[in-house]
Amino acid sequence: MSQATARVLNSGMRLPPLPTIRELVKLYKLQAMKQLSQNFLMDERLTDKIVKSAGRIDPRDIVLEVGPGPGGITRSILRRQPQRLILVEKDRRFGETLQLLRECASPLDMQVDIYYDDILRFNIEQHIPDITQRIHLIGNLPFSISTRLLINWYADLAARRGAFRRNDTCMTLTFQKEVAERICAPVGSEQRCRLSVMSQIWTEPVMKFIIPGKAFVPKPQVDVGVVKLMPLKQPKTQLPFSLVERVMRHIFSMRQKYCRRGYGTLLPPDGREEATQTLFQRADVRDTLRSFELSVPQCLRLADAYAEYIKEHPEVEGYDYRGPKIQDAATPSGDNDFTPAYNVVKCI
Ligand code: SAM
Repeated sequence: MSQATARVLNSGMRLPPLPTIRELVKLYKLQAMKQLSQNFLMDERLTDKIVKSAGRIDPRDIVLEVGPGPGGITRSILRRQPQRLILVEKDRRFGETLQLLRECASPLDMQVDIYYDDILRFNIEQHIPDITQRIHLIGNLPFSISTRLLINWYADLAARRGAFRRNDTCMTLTFQKEVAERICAPVGSEQRCRLSVMSQIWTEPVMKFIIPGKAFVPKPQVDVGVVKLMPLKQPKTQLPFSLVERVMRHIFSMRQKYCRRGYGTLLPPDGREEATQTLFQRADVRDTLRSFELSVPQCLRLADAYAEYIKEHPEVEGYDYRGPKIQDAATPSGDNDFTPAYNVVKCI
């Protein structure tokens, strides 16, 4: 048993102090890697505050931490004593510091599993096959993947898969302050965008607090927001995630214009104006609102109207208004088929 582990055991739940940056760099030859968005949080009061934002962690719960790095937040999680802690870190250089934490936790009956993997590819269902335990997702996320990861998790949430087979999986995550504000932005606010609506369709996001950039090493250009996202008990829609995502992308593509402009680009140019007007009427939404003025129910009624429309006109489903108009060139003149004269893409 190492001296550090013995010290921890002798002192009950005390975990070894966070190494200083100088120690980290010297001992483990670590330097923050920009391409992995590494900004470390070394202030224990702040790491404790992030974990406290997650709310109650029961002794039977499982916590999955994204990107533990040198283990600042990891220590705060271990102090809450979950039954199991899963760490997913892309950078193997943190192996020794994380291994030390695992050694400290094991005599206290906490299982720590360390995976050197990309969280975007990590199969949570495979690592947590059983759904009897509640899962908390916690992480000081790398900026470079934070929005993509969140959208992936909403897709899982909509499909009740991955970490979201139960509806009480709570996410406590950091984002660049502007992104955090967008996630939580109410109707009519300057920051309201696609991410706000997507977040509020499946979760209840709450901005917990802001951490000034200077608290991180190295200091990022921006401040950081800590957001807690609780899945809604009753999802606001039963539509497929890919369809909702597509409709929101179009609605918010022309943020400052009337929302009918962006929404209309879901439809091919022939008869677009008329069809768009009909769909707004069916959805009972005023088409001269700007997209940031739309509420979640209004956005979802527009998604419902579009879903109905593509049932009636299946050829429109994959219409991509940005795609090249290849059909004209490919179809011999005089060919009398009704294949639409626009490129089609599958909804993601
Ligand atoms: N949790 C540590 C802290 O608060 O000091 C480090 C946070 S740092 C902002 C982001 C961490 O995520 C880094 O350790 C980085 O190596 C890791 N990371 C970056 N991309 C990742 C990915 N795709 N999957 C898993 N971890 C990743």
